[in-house]
Amino acid sequence: MNDDQIFNKLQEMFPNAQCELNYKDPYQLTVAVMLSAQTTDIAVNKVTINLFDQYPNVFALASADIDNLKSIIKTIGLYHNKAKNLIAMAKIVASKFDGKIINDQEVLMSLPGIGRKSANVIRSECFNEATIAVDTHVYRVALRLGYAEKNASLITVERNLMERFDKGKWHSLHHLLIFFGRYHCHAKKPKCESCPFTSICKKDALD
Ligand code: SF4
Repeated sequence: MNDDQIFNKLQEMFPNAQCELNYKDPYQLTVAVMLSAQTTDIAVNKVTINLFDQYPNVFALASADIDNLKSIIKTIGLYHNKAKNLIAMAKIVASKFDGKIINDQEVLMSLPGIGRKSANVIRSECFNEATIAVDTHVYRVALRLGYAEKNASLITVERNLMERFDKGKWHSLHHLLIFFGRYHCHAKKPKCESCPFTSICKKDALD
């Protein structure tokens, strides 16, 4: 099975693969992505309704009361740190970047609570940049499908995927791999009995 066949099969399985975080602008996606670490998108979407209502832009978030912010996001993991990072991020964006989320990898990664993966998601979703964000699903699935060796670093997985697939496919590939990992090739109980990739699977790569 070659790369095109894998891509096409994933598209067949998940024709509607897309970002599952709810957002309307780069500010909202940045907040949602920061909240999504070690938490499900569903849980994030539940808290952002109220959060965006109370803090509709970077300037409002920059002057947020941290205890109020914590009370809004307390149902998700790591909320103490996330609240701190959200306010710190907003203060920097408000003071240094005129309240705008900038399409610049280095600038995004310099903000509190935003790493390479989050910066890639923001640039891909909001600014149509060709990036592949490697989260836990993409990492697991990429190793099982043979795109990287055991113990590969996140950056190696990202680079390998970028080398193997045309740039025009990166955005879709990112979502397809996430959906495959989220809904089929689970970490603990993957649905191997109904998987089209059994002939190429390197499940042992994660052991
Ligand atoms: S065979 Fe199982 S572990 Fe391998 S890719 Fe398919 S679902 Fe994942």
